[in-house]
Amino acid sequence: TGVLYVVATPIGNLDDLAPRAARLLGEVDLVAAEDTRHTSRLLRHLGVAPPLLSLHEHNEAARVEQIDARLAAGEAVALVSDAGTPLISDPGFVLVRELRARGRRIVPVPGACALVAALSAAGLPTDRFLFQGFLPAKGGTRRGRLEALAEREETLVFYESPHRIRDTLADLGTVLGERQVVLARELTKTFETFLEGTPEALLARMADDPDQARGEFVVMVAGAAPKSADEAASVDADALLSAMLAEGV
Ligand code: SAM
Repeated sequence: TGVLYVVATPIGNLDDLAPRAARLLGEVDLVAAEDTRHTSRLLRHLGVAPPLLSLHEHNEAARVEQIDARLAAGEAVALVSDAGTPLISDPGFVLVRELRARGRRIVPVPGACALVAALSAAGLPTDRFLFQGFLPAKGGTRRGRLEALAEREETLVFYESPHRIRDTLADLGTVLGERQVVLARELTKTFETFLEGTPEALLARMADDPDQARGEFVVMVAGAAPKSADEAASVDADALLSAMLAEGV
């Protein structure tokens, strides 16, 4: 029976396309793409012209039957998004969930992913991190999300657009204060930059040099300092005391 290949594409530098991905894009019977015009450019660069089908957040559910029928007929289908790994803040989750529920074969073809590239060069702890995708667009909701994350000790990772990078930095400053932030901008592209500092310092840097606010960003934030043993112990003592009181000991 057929196979759905989930194929990562470059996040800027076309040379980052894996040879296996390039080969498959030329061999499959169909490429399901977030934006067919965007993907045609990549396919032209590869010198291949497979049939394309659009698959984006507004038609994804409707595409499931169509793609399932192609797989049932024994065809090979590749799923790609505009950049990086499909399903990572990109379409494809509904398709993969539904096809897997139907027992279809789904094969990942790994490659670029902005959050992994950013973490790999930022110098923040990577043993545990919490990827949060895009923060909510509305200020109040965004700050609420950050408040809910304030105590987390893992490195926090967000995606951000140039339209909101300053608002997000301002909110990081308001909610998390002096926390260390690393911005990975325009990864794998000509103006790739890593900037590090407090939210306030990074905003000042952008005020000095507005170019630093352009392009695509991965925002990484140091986790909260671990609670000291004393604090942890006193929390435990409190919890024990309330538990005993509740039990009527
Ligand atoms: N699926 C993609 C991946 O695997 O990384 C992410 C898609 S998401 C719609 C786009 C966001 O990813 C951008 O707003 C930015 O936060 C991040 N991103 C993508 N390419 C990037 C790059 N070259 N440099 C920095 N961030 C990037």
